[in-house]
Amino acid sequence: MAHLGTLPPALGFLAAAHAGGGRAPEGPVATRALRAEIGEALSVQAFSATVLHGPGADPGRAWTRAGDTVVVVAGEFYNQDELRSVLPDGDAHDGDAGLLAALFDRYDLHAFRLVNGRFAAVVASGARLCAATDHAGSVPLYLRPAPGDIHIATEAKALATQAMPKGPSLPGTRRVPGLPGVHQVPAGTVLELAVDSAGGTLHRTWQPPSARRILHEDEARRAVRSALELAVGRRLAAGVKPLAVLSGGIDSSAVAALAAARGPIDSLSMGTDLSDEFPHAQVVAKHLATDHSELVIPMDELLRQLPYTVWAAETLDADIIEYLLPLVSLYRRLPDTPRRILTGYGADIPLAGMHREDRLPQLDSAVAHDMATFDGLNEMSPVLAAVHGHWTSHPYWDRDVLDLLVGLEAGLKRRYGRDKWVLRSAMTDLLPEETVARPKLGVHEGSGVSVAFTRLLSDNGVPDRDIATAKALVVRELFDRTVVDGGHPDHVSTEGAIRTALHRLRQGAA
Ligand code: AMP
Ligand code: MG
Repeated sequence: MAHLGTLPPALGFLAAAHAGGGRAPEGPVATRALRAEIGEALSVQAFSATVLHGPGADPGRAWTRAGDTVVVVAGEFYNQDELRSVLPDGDAHDGDAGLLAALFDRYDLHAFRLVNGRFAAVVASGARLCAATDHAGSVPLYLRPAPGDIHIATEAKALATQAMPKGPSLPGTRRVPGLPGVHQVPAGTVLELAVDSAGGTLHRTWQPPSARRILHEDEARRAVRSALELAVGRRLAAGVKPLAVLSGGIDSSAVAALAAARGPIDSLSMGTDLSDEFPHAQVVAKHLATDHSELVIPMDELLRQLPYTVWAAETLDADIIEYLLPLVSLYRRLPDTPRRILTGYGADIPLAGMHREDRLPQLDSAVAHDMATFDGLNEMSPVLAAVHGHWTSHPYWDRDVLDLLVGLEAGLKRRYGRDKWVLRSAMTDLLPEETVARPKLGVHEGSGVSVAFTRLLSDNGVPDRDIATAKALVVRELFDRTVVDGGHPDHVSTEGAIRTALHRLRQGAA
């Protein structure tokens, strides 16, 4: 049984390892949280950290010291029972940090190969510092290494203001544009650093499967159903009513259905004055008897949330920002009481749900491409909801579910002329037929965001052929203001970013 609360013990952290003395980086962060300070003198390094935690969460469970090792975990593990089973005194370790310390003692950094979770972690041990992401890099993790002085944080902006010497290059990590010396830890890796030299080695702990399994239809359908059932169940906390963000498409409806099969749930759909999917979500909510509500956000207001979205996601990808904008806006409009939120995000990547034709080579190419390029986009960052103190999780990107879905042969994903066939057919008994059959509609389409963002740029004089470039420039400008400069999004306007983008566009054209 996983011991989950409404929120995990930590939503994020800022930490530093010093050969001498020193302090943790001080922020700013987008995560709305309380701060708990840690300072531990190890044999050859001083480790300090600030744990970012929500009200009611116990930050003491987010970290532990065992001998010459300190462990800090943001987020949560989902296979605690399995992890405990490989430890002689497994039951003694209740929280994830304690469990990880014991696993690290037994397996060293290979411990991270064992964990199925949504987390970022740092382990200071002896003269080393290990920075680890989950398989999906779903909790982004950044570091700024300098000899004898390594800073690490779950948000890049927290490392931006530190006047630190530019550190050594770290092969395999991604540099953050505009923040020299700051690196993002790749998905599914442990970056192992020597504190004194800040030299590092990258160890992969997960890779998407390249092989494809051939299963009988029934077998495939049953495997998907049970993996997803388990993933949803592992993300529910005893006594905590989850909130499913529901579009009424197959992905979020399947998650809502599996959660509702285990207890009462709330569901919420958002729409705008231009567009919504409310009737589709209502069908599902009624079928599952959820406590359902609808939220209409006027498009003007939605577009004003662009700075918040970039601030939270720390991505430069304008398409991703369009997907995330409606969700961030929704999370920000929730009441203040922290919620545990389930989404259907990410199902389209392993199943090639955006693939609109029958040919299988193209489908598998799309899966392989998307699985090779998702890293660093921060689509599933917990900060998106933590800006308003909430916690999200995404069952389709559970490690076991993802391994299974990616690895199914393409003909199970597209079958009988249906996209995501294996998922749809796994859910037929729990959802109305019209939901099971409903075609894909992306959240950026369903809410009208893509169209409205395009129109906003057209109205400002951007010619059609330059729309995509202009969107990228707007996002870049918002990134520079909110992440690189650390400006609060309340003081950064979408209009201002558009003016700057137009200026750059004209300069580029001249
Ligand atoms: P999509 O782009 O449609 O795959 O959306 C990704 C996820 O965002 C869905 O699985 C839902 O959990 C959530 N979502 C999408 N559209 C809405 C909406 N209109 N209202 C609430 N949640 C949504
Ligand atoms: Mg949708």
